[in-house]
Amino acid sequence: MAARSGKEYLQGLRDGREVWLGGERVADVTTHPALRRGAQTLARLYDLQYDPELHELMTYPSPKTGEPVGRSFQPPYTREDLVARRRMMKVWADATCGMMGRTPDFLNVTMMIFAMRRDFFAQGGERYGDNIVRYYEYVRDHDLCLTHTLINPQIDRSKPASQQAEPDLALRKVGETAEGILVRGARMLATLAPYSDELAVYPYTPLQPDEDDYALVFAIPVATPGLRFICRDSFDRGDSPFDHPLASRFEEMDCMVVFDDVLVPWERVFVNANAKLYNALMPSIGTMAHTGHQIAVKNIAKCEFVVGVAQRIVETIGIGGFLHVQEKMGELITYLETIKACVYAAEAQAQPGPGGVLYPAMDPLHCSRNLFPKWYPRMIEILQLLGAGGFMLTPSAAAVKGPLKDIIARYYQGAGRPARERIQLFRLAWDLVGEAIGSRQVLYERFFGGDPVRNLAARYRMYDLSACVAHVDRLLAMAEAD
Ligand SMILES: Cc1cc2nc3c(=O)[nH]c(=O)nc-3n(C[C@H](O)[C@H](O)[C@H](O)COP(=O)(O)OP(=O)(O)OC[C@H]3O[C@@H](n4cnc5c(N)ncnc54)[C@H](O)[C@@H]3O)c2cc1C
Repeated sequence: MAARSGKEYLQGLRDGREVWLGGERVADVTTHPALRRGAQTLARLYDLQYDPELHELMTYPSPKTGEPVGRSFQPPYTREDLVARRRMMKVWADATCGMMGRTPDFLNVTMMIFAMRRDFFAQGGERYGDNIVRYYEYVRDHDLCLTHTLINPQIDRSKPASQQAEPDLALRKVGETAEGILVRGARMLATLAPYSDELAVYPYTPLQPDEDDYALVFAIPVATPGLRFICRDSFDRGDSPFDHPLASRFEEMDCMVVFDDVLVPWERVFVNANAKLYNALMPSIGTMAHTGHQIAVKNIAKCEFVVGVAQRIVETIGIGGFLHVQEKMGELITYLETIKACVYAAEAQAQPGPGGVLYPAMDPLHCSRNLFPKWYPRMIEILQLLGAGGFMLTPSAAAVKGPLKDIIARYYQGAGRPARERIQLFRLAWDLVGEAIGSRQVLYERFFGGDPVRNLAARYRMYDLSACVAHVDRLLAMAEAD
């Protein structure tokens, strides 16, 4: 097996998976009107792996089979490896204008670093260490697309998982057989689930020490019996790419995941009902150094896209001469360049970890991770402030060609630009600032990486402030001596 083409990827999605949308079971996600265009966008990412100009960058030879496999599965051992991975990830991020946060590279790097830390999983028993390595090799060599679900359902956040109204609301282990473990309950979100081959379950928020039954790390095929995915409303309402350039292409979908007595085969179990190991996983193995690298690269692509949309608005309505417009463009550019600086600094300061795998430096990646949730909503606000009432001058493709076409051509034109061009641009910008797909992007950036409040507070708690306070203490001591 080797890196897959788009066609092979789409074929893999036709597997009887249980996906629900609008109260109905989806027969085939690749043909469903509200999901098919998202699947096609992902298929195009897989096709990029076989673009003659990109093939070498997008793939590397599998150490097991020698076949070309996706580069984001590759453990980086040198800075050159990290740079190549960044360039590969940027190709995918650019292909979706940064609008699909969970392109497969996100979980490819996760599984890579899990497998590189076999020793961690083996603490629960050697078999679990072997399982994670074999699983990584399997998804790498079959080029499978993963989704993940980390958070228990948002029912009552004042209580831990085991003390919700019923014991099986949060996902937990309810039994064991010769074939594997039985799990029941739900996890609240899995982005990209209808478009994925596999579902990975692992921690984000810690459990109570006695909540072993809830402490599970495993991965199963999306089409596993008893596994249900419930989609939110789709933002792809079948409109033309002219009318909704983003919604018609970049619907990555978010789902609730319900486990109805699902059997997880033993070889797919990585942490088996072990709260101590579960809670230690994310703090100890440095996954975020690698996912943070992918996220920050996506942020560069997203910033570049938003800056580009802003600049086109500025040109199209002739506002570039106003000082406050220049100041706002300067602010956008500063966000872009700061995220780039975070990525470059993380690569330059990367350090080898266990097994010689290079870990991008976390401090710069924390900056990107903790500031982008604040910056992205501000970037969207700036687009609103620049476009102003122009967002309301956005007749549909049908209207542009309809009985009022001459009037529209006359009054909807821009500064030296025909009406159609101006309308097309503003409809694109409206998908970002006004439509549901744009609001979801803002929500995504605020929350996909966890609660931004707790993330920043943790930054404070974990940061070594000794060098900072030493300056103060030195000055105070000097004052004493004066
Ligand atoms: C668009 C989108 C896509 C996502 N995709 C995925 C995905 O693919 N996989 C996945 O696993 N997850 C995904 N998530 C979920 C994401 O991880 C969570 O949204 C995030 O961790 C916050 O959890 P929550 O939404 O349950 O909010 P909650 O934890 O319920 O928080 C709600 C509010 O209460 C506050 N609060 C709650 N508990 C505490 C506390 N203990 N201390 C202080 N304040 C508290 C929070 O600050 C917040 O203001 C996605 C989220 C979004 C919005």
